Amino acid sequence: MNAVDQDDAELGPVDPADEEPRPGSRLARMRQPLARHVVEAVAVEEGVCVRPVALRRVDLDTGETTIVPAPCGATLASKCPPCAERARRLRMAQCKAGWHLDDEPLPDPDPPSDEAKDLGRFRADLEALRKESEQAGDAANVADIDGVIGHVDEALAELGVRGKAAPDNRERPRRTRSTRRRQDAADLPRLPVDKRTVGRTYSAPDGTAWRPSMFLTLTCDTYGRVLTDGTPVDPDSYDYRRAARDAIHFPKLIDRFWQNLRRAVGWDVQYFAVLEPQRRLAPHLHAAFRGTVSRVVLRQVATATYHQVWWPATDAPIYAPDGPGLPTWDEQAGSYVDPVTGAELVSWDDALDAIGPDDEPAHVVRFGPQIRADGVTA
Ligand SMILES: [Zn+2]
Repeated sequence: MNAVDQDDAELGPVDPADEEPRPGSRLARMRQPLARHVVEAVAVEEGVCVRPVALRRVDLDTGETTIVPAPCGATLASKCPPCAERARRLRMAQCKAGWHLDDEPLPDPDPPSDEAKDLGRFRADLEALRKESEQAGDAANVADIDGVIGHVDEALAELGVRGKAAPDNRERPRRTRSTRRRQDAADLPRLPVDKRTVGRTYSAPDGTAWRPSMFLTLTCDTYGRVLTDGTPVDPDSYDYRRAARDAIHFPKLIDRFWQNLRRAVGWDVQYFAVLEPQRRLAPHLHAAFRGTVSRVVLRQVATATYHQVWWPATDAPIYAPDGPGLPTWDEQAGSYVDPVTGAELVSWDDALDAIGPDDEPAHVVRFGPQIRADGVTA
């Protein structure tokens, strides 16, 4: 775009709400819906995936290649409303059909779908190509293929295929972080987890069997007092930074919680849950889980659960607007470079690799002290 846009100069103080923009002007163009948004809106209206994963399918007899779109399978409405709605309905059906079962549903794994098999073949082709490129010393090509293999693995995972299709033979070694428990976290009981999802049964004097469930609410910590509308009483002392980081990593903390809970009680606790923002925008979790666990154990597990975020330090900006300038894009290097030294900026992966065994995590997420747990009977 030109530095000075002619149409901008012509616009003047026009209120776009009450005057139609001149046809062909920049404003008129800006008002036209983006093609992508139109397609997305139609997809949402028709209840189909808005960002299908494109899979290449090769007909083994004719060698013909076709592109097959598969639904993305997102469970977040912000990513794909139709897929999220489908997932929600599936969960509702599963809950209705399975909540009060008293036998263990442990079906055999499903036979792989055609989609999964196509992806598997595609992945095998990629591995072969990768090997060729590696032998030819074409590092750029190897990196490209690794990228595609990563996407295929993600697509396979979204199709519900468990495990890895091939061992990780990438140059980048897996980063290992200390698995030592934090000194400041309470120890948890560790029982072998039975392949059992049904909770305890209680018998009433009249012989009726009860299999109660529980409702559980877990929240983030407090970051300072808030007013009734959720805004801080004292904005200067409110810990916005911790609030934001906790909110970003809260889902990881929840995964840890279920893992810890299952180990602490020794059976495969099943749950349905929803993450919601509180008025102060901190996320909290409402969960219904099958079976009962004492409040003491729930509190113990919640208190002992934490998630460590291994990010490079982000507290001090390196390129501030009033500093020596912002990084610039270097076409040749294919990377952003330092405005003064011209050196390539450190990539996220390299920055993560540089975190040493003695470094502290950038952030530790924990639950707040408020825990609600109530028994529910059918
Ligand atoms: Zn989708």
